[in-house]
Amino acid sequence: MKKIAVLTSGGDSPGMNAAIRAVVRSAIYHGCKVYGVNRGYRGLIDGDLFEMDLASVGDIIHRGGTILRSARCEEFKTEEGRKKAVNVLNVFGIDGLVVIGGDGSFQGAQKLSELGFPAVGVPGTIDNDLAYTDYTIGFDTALNTVLDAISKIRDTSSSHERVSVIEVMGRHCGDIALYAGLAGGAEVIIVPEEDYDIDEICKRLIQSNNRGKKHSIIMLAEGVGNANEIMEQIKEKTGLDSRATILGHIQRGGTPSAFDRVLASQMGAKAVELLLEGKSSKVVGIKNNEIIDMDIHEALAIERKFNSNLYKLASILAK
Ligand code: ADP
Repeated sequence: MKKIAVLTSGGDSPGMNAAIRAVVRSAIYHGCKVYGVNRGYRGLIDGDLFEMDLASVGDIIHRGGTILRSARCEEFKTEEGRKKAVNVLNVFGIDGLVVIGGDGSFQGAQKLSELGFPAVGVPGTIDNDLAYTDYTIGFDTALNTVLDAISKIRDTSSSHERVSVIEVMGRHCGDIALYAGLAGGAEVIIVPEEDYDIDEICKRLIQSNNRGKKHSIIMLAEGVGNANEIMEQIKEKTGLDSRATILGHIQRGGTPSAFDRVLASQMGAKAVELLLEGKSSKVVGIKNNEIIDMDIHEALAIERKFNSNLYKLASILAK
């Protein structure tokens, strides 16, 4: 009987639990034993593993966060740390590892594969910053959280006739700002992938104001800068009453959307299938609505392409 281990690593995202559930239940379906690793690579080095059964993933598909908890682990970035981890995996008799996480966690999985240990990555991050896949688990839920916040901020910014700058997560990726900005009808979207001109933005805000539009929403991706600084510049240059809201960690929590649950279920099951087929050093993704797998080196080497057409459309529609 094969033994598979699963861990969650790096920044958590809604839907990670649904992915853990899929790994555990599909592995058991295929006659495997499954071990959960607590606290990502930290727990792997410390030997913090426990056997999971069908019941241990009951009642979690709708929960945000991760029951296995997540951590960042500097020691795993060293060869010595990774050798300790492989040693632990061998002691427990584990044949393959599923890593649910983002870019950094995948680099860890890649290095583990280079040491000869079979590892498969499942993309769990709200940032949607992995180029090889159209969507990552948690992105859709985060978008809906941001959208909900935009609606609430719009109410008050309309009452007070204000400009609201809303800063969202995404690290160096502007996807949350772009998609939530488009869906929420933001007047301006500022992302790291596209140049912006604060004077041009201020001119537009003044023109809109003169036209009678008394409130505006500006979506700002955290990779560009701080919402308070942008807000101060706007205030100074336009004289319009402005406020900044930094949404922060609220974006990482919450019950996963239907889309994220379905995606996580498919991806978790696919990761198990790959390990059972004897494949290693792979990542799972979704491309053109189909679940795919790809070599992890290849996947990490792909340069991320920003959806400029969508950005242009958002700008045309926001008047
Ligand atoms: P995310 O997976 O969300 O991108 P991080 O970048 O923080 O999060 O990475 C999570 C963990 O993955 C790190 O704490 C570390 O243990 C491991 N990791 C990150 N980069 C590497 C690397 N280059 N080599 C080995 N392990 C890495």
